[in-house]
Formats: sequence, structure tokens, C-alpha cells
Amino acid sequence: MHAVVAMTQPFDIELDVLVIGAGGCGLTAAVAAHEAGAETAIVEKLERAGGNTGLSSGSVPGAGTRFQALAGVADDACRFRRDLTQVSGSHDVPHIERMLADISAELVEWLVDCAGVNLELVETYRHVGHSVARLHAPPSRDGADLVRDLERAVETRGIAVAFGQPAVRLLVSGERVVGAETLDRRGEVTRIAASSVVLGSNGFGASRTLLDQLCPLAARAEYAGAPGSEGEAIRWGRELGAGLGNVSAFQGHAGLSARNGALVTWTVIERGGIIVDRHGKRFADETIGYSAFAAQELSADGPFYMIYDRRIADDVRAGQPPFAQVCQPGVSVQADTLDDIAHRFELDPQTLSRTVADASRAARGGEDPCARRDWGLGALAAPYCATPITPALFHTQGGLMIDTDARVLRTDETVVDGLFAGGGAAAGISGRSGAGGYTSGNGLLSALGLGYVAGRAAARNAMQVAQPHLASLSHTHVQHGG
Ligand SMILES: Cc1cc2nc3c(=O)[nH]c(=O)nc-3n(C[C@H](O)[C@H](O)[C@H](O)COP(=O)(O)OP(=O)(O)OC[C@H]3O[C@@H](n4cnc5c(N)ncnc54)[C@H](O)[C@@H]3O)c2cc1C
Repeated sequence: MHAVVAMTQPFDIELDVLVIGAGGCGLTAAVAAHEAGAETAIVEKLERAGGNTGLSSGSVPGAGTRFQALAGVADDACRFRRDLTQVSGSHDVPHIERMLADISAELVEWLVDCAGVNLELVETYRHVGHSVARLHAPPSRDGADLVRDLERAVETRGIAVAFGQPAVRLLVSGERVVGAETLDRRGEVTRIAASSVVLGSNGFGASRTLLDQLCPLAARAEYAGAPGSEGEAIRWGRELGAGLGNVSAFQGHAGLSARNGALVTWTVIERGGIIVDRHGKRFADETIGYSAFAAQELSADGPFYMIYDRRIADDVRAGQPPFAQVCQPGVSVQADTLDDIAHRFELDPQTLSRTVADASRAARGGEDPCARRDWGLGALAAPYCATPITPALFHTQGGLMIDTDARVLRTDETVVDGLFAGGGAAAGISGRSGAGGYTSGNGLLSALGLGYVAGRAAARNAMQVAQPHLASLSHTHVQHGG
């Protein structure tokens, strides 16, 4: 069955802007499009909003915000661009990286002032890749709260959201996208006409087939993202001749608990923890960041173990209560000696003891074989802790090529009229391949930033396009609220 079909039958519903996906990108796009005067609705595959955005810590970068100014942080788009490029290296969408850095402060302030999202500047923690405090997050540091605030903004504006109603095909007329077909829980098809369609359906982390094809390194990691990210945007875009960018880049996390799937916060590493392989040896500088280190693990000899001590565990638990899930017996081990730890995980005791001794020497100012320089609380000391971990895939970073209005581009760089993409559906700004190009906040910057841009551009497009003669509004499955 084709993912894109020519429009031949009448439509059931007529809209200016149809948004596919009620995650960070989709909800933001809908609010922005509605604010710009467009009649807008959202269709969501699952029974509730959120997607990966709901699983995240909700941290959104903004360079030059009034919140930074209040905290005495000097920052601007230029500095942010430099930080991003330093981590990402060269890639396929430098124009998007530039544009997102340029609008990041406006985005954060718009989210707070216009969309009513509760965000504050994170000052207590310097995120990977940022030279200043720049991430703005809900006070709870929980992406579910960001989603809840965005949903409220959608509801307040009376924007319709249909849950459990995935878009299954795009509808085209000539070369233009004119809407989408959706399938509801009862198997009933609804044909929705829209002058603009925004793809906010995220990437392809949940599609084994697309991962094997486009991002094989990530295919070896355990997927820890939302189940809805099955890559429809890529499939539909390809059928329309769209280009793809940065397809083998992804956000990983090196520290998923192998026992209960809980995330072992990277603060454990920042406080002085180390990671060893099946032989009890370190193999890279752990402070390169959780995403870059995941790529190191994917090329090393697992299983892997995070080794730290009780001081670090107590310190982390005090600041981050969910860490208690990781400290449970059966998930982590605490022991008085490294020999006990080695015994519990069938590691060679001599190798483990040598590894920890070398790391401790480096933490006291000696040279580290892995070139690590930051040791947090210093050398490890008994009693020790160990958590078996596995590398995780959070989300894919590659997607459809777009211009700075989030319009989808064909491989020859012409615009696919009527089609916009953002978030994980679009090419990301975290390098061309692998997990090393990810700067903290890149995921939500692409989701909310491109949602903001796409929503406004989609509304403008709808004002310019004469709507096709649209038929009956007889069976409307689009419902309000959420
Ligand atoms: C554990 C975790 C922590 C993270 N932490 C951060 C962080 O702190 N900061 C950061 O910047 N990034 C973070 N990320 C990455 C970030 O969450 C994603 O990059 C971002 O949420 C993607 O947003 P999105 O709107 O594109 O996709 P999503 O938020 O996943 O939304 C996509 C929505 O589209 C729906 N959908 C899919 N297909 C269809 C269809 N055919 N029809 C209708 N609906 C469809 C999905 O069900 C979903 O609801 C994290 C990711 C994970 C997994």
C-alpha cells in the first residue's frame, strides 16, 4: 500500500493546518499556527499526548533570554552557535542550526509568555556542550509537565485533538500535499483536507527496519524512547522525493540499568564514577557525555558496569530522588571491597582493582590513560557500588531535509508544497552520524523550535492557498481536549 495517495474522493473534514503527532513539536506547532489565525487540529496515534517529549527532562536551550539576564548569565545566539558546532562538527543542515540558535531566546520567552509553559533557567547544572547556563526546564525537570502545559495551551485555544487516530497516508493533488488519511480505533478512515500538513511524528527509533537501513549503529542499542516513533515521516517523505539529512546521527545514553531499565543519571559519572567493560577495564573518557559514551560502548566489549562509591550514591540520591530506583538490591551492588564487586559480576578481580587504582591516581592529579581530566568528588573509596548498564537509543536525529521555514525539500531542493516537518521528523542538528554530536537540549530545540517555526509558516501558507472545494463534514472524529 502506498503511503502517499492522490486525492480522488471527497474529504470528511476541512482545515487550514493539520498537525500529525501530539508531542513537543506537534503541540507547539498547533499553538503557533492557531495564534497566527489558522484553523488547526491535531491527530495523535496513541491514546495520549507526549511521545518522547513526555519522557525527557523538558530542558530547552535559549541563548540570550531574560531569565539568563536576571541570573547574570551573558549569552547570545553567536555563542550558542559556536557551542553547537563545536560538538556537532559539520553536517547537512547548518542553516537549521543557525536559525534555531538565532530564535532560541524568542522561543523560550514565547513558550512562557504566550503558551503558558512553566520554565526556569537551570543554574545548578552545566549541561553537556554548553559553555554557560542556557537550558530552561520545568521546575520538576520532567518533560511530562512541559507536555501538560502545552496541552493546556492547545485546549484553551479550542484546538481539536484526536487521540488513537494515526495518520496513515498523506493525500496529494498534483505535486502538492492536501491533507492526510487517518484510521480510528474502529477501523474507520477519515480524510482530512488541509492547506498545510505539519509532520510532528518524531523519528524512527521504534522501527527496526528503518534503523537497520539508515542508522545501523543505533540499531544495536536498546530503544528507550516512546513507541510512536515508527518513521512514517521518512517513509512518506521519501515517496514524495524528499531529501534526508544526518540520517545516521542519534541521541544515545550510555547508562540504562541492565536490570530494571531505569536511567542511571550521568551525575554519577560527573561525581567521579567510571565505566568498565566485561574485562573490568575502562575504554574511554567517560566525561565526553552520556550520548557520545553510548557510541563508545556500542563499539566496545560489553556487558558494562558503572563503578562508583557510597559517597557518590548518597550525594546523587540527595539531589535526584529517582536515583533510589537504581540503588535497589538486584539492580546495583554495594560491597566493601572491589574483589566482592568483581566476584558478583564475574569480572577479573586483579584487572578491576588495577583499573580503579589507575583511575584514583589520575583523580589525584596523575595522568589518565583515557585522558579524563574531571573527577568530581575525587578518587573512589570503599564501600564501592556497581550497576550493570547497557547503551540506549533515545531518539534518531536524522530526518527530512527542510528549509528555514520548516518546509520539506526534495532531493533537488525544491519545496514539497503544503508539507512542513519539525522535531525528530526533520533532519537534526547533532552531527552527520553517530551519537557524539549531541549537545544537551538539541532534541527539544528541534522539536519546539521547529514546531514554532512550522506552525507559523503553515498558517501563512494556508492564508495564501485557495482551499480546494472540500466536501461534507459528515463524520467528524476529531474531538476536543485531552
Ligand atoms: C529519556 C529521554 C530523555 C530525553 N531528554 C531530553 C532533554 O532533556 N532535552 C532534549 O532536548 N531532548 C531530550 N530527549 C529527546 C527529546 O525528547 C526528543 O528529541 C523530542 O521529544 C522529539 O520531539 P517530537 O515532537 O519530534 O516527538 P515526540 O515528542 O515523540 O512526539 C511525536 C508524537 O507523534 C505521534 N505519532 C507518531 N506517528 C504518528 C502518526 N502516524 N499519526 C499520528 N501521530 C503520530 C507519537 O505517538 C508522538 O506522540 C530525550 C529523549 C528521551 C527518550
